[in-house]
Amino acid sequence: MKLTNNLYFYPEKGTLDCNTYVIRGNPSIIIDPGSAQFVPALIHDLHQDGIEPEDIDVITNTHLHGDHCWANEAFKELSGAKILCHQLHQKSYDITVIKTTKFFGLKAVEFNQDGYLDNNKLSTGDMEFELIHSPGHSPDSICFYCKQEGILICGDVIFNKNTGRVDLPGGSADELKQSIDKLSHLEIEYLLPGHMDIITSAEKVKSNFEFIKKHILNWL
Ligand SMILES: [Zn+2]
Ligand SMILES: [Zn+2]
Repeated sequence: MKLTNNLYFYPEKGTLDCNTYVIRGNPSIIIDPGSAQFVPALIHDLHQDGIEPEDIDVITNTHLHGDHCWANEAFKELSGAKILCHQLHQKSYDITVIKTTKFFGLKAVEFNQDGYLDNNKLSTGDMEFELIHSPGHSPDSICFYCKQEGILICGDVIFNKNTGRVDLPGGSADELKQSIDKLSHLEIEYLLPGHMDIITSAEKVKSNFEFIKKHILNWL
């Protein structure tokens, strides 16, 4: 589903999957391809928008919880795209990947990384994203913020009327509160989380931050 000129949204397809975002440009990027079992459904959705897997150049993630990156390798095989991680993903790999999958009794995610994202920004030609470290849900949570278009791809940091959980390995309620406070000062038209609904107006995004600060963060 097309959200803006260059940005596409594909809702999660079941449990252990996540919302996927595609940014068309040079390079074209897929953020959080989700779970491997839903890759055929994701490809179907991409086709609806006239996107072939081969059109994608880079696969990356908001964080390395399995529901966001189990499909990295399968999507790479189909598309030939490169998997680029953030340095922080590598730094907390033992906590976010190994310990968290153990926590759920699952097999650790494996994929062959091809390189790293720039630490602070990601450019796709027409769009420039600032990469904002936003720990709390996981130590490696990165938000992708495009100021010109007011887009925040925020992974599991913040949802529609909720936040990401803080009880997984490396989680911290205090860090999440700080991260959300920092993000709440950005100008956002499109709040694009890793699960559930997206929020698409500055007014609704603002009231969502207010709701979360008032009703959720105090109880974490
Ligand atoms: Zn997560
Ligand atoms: Zn998730």
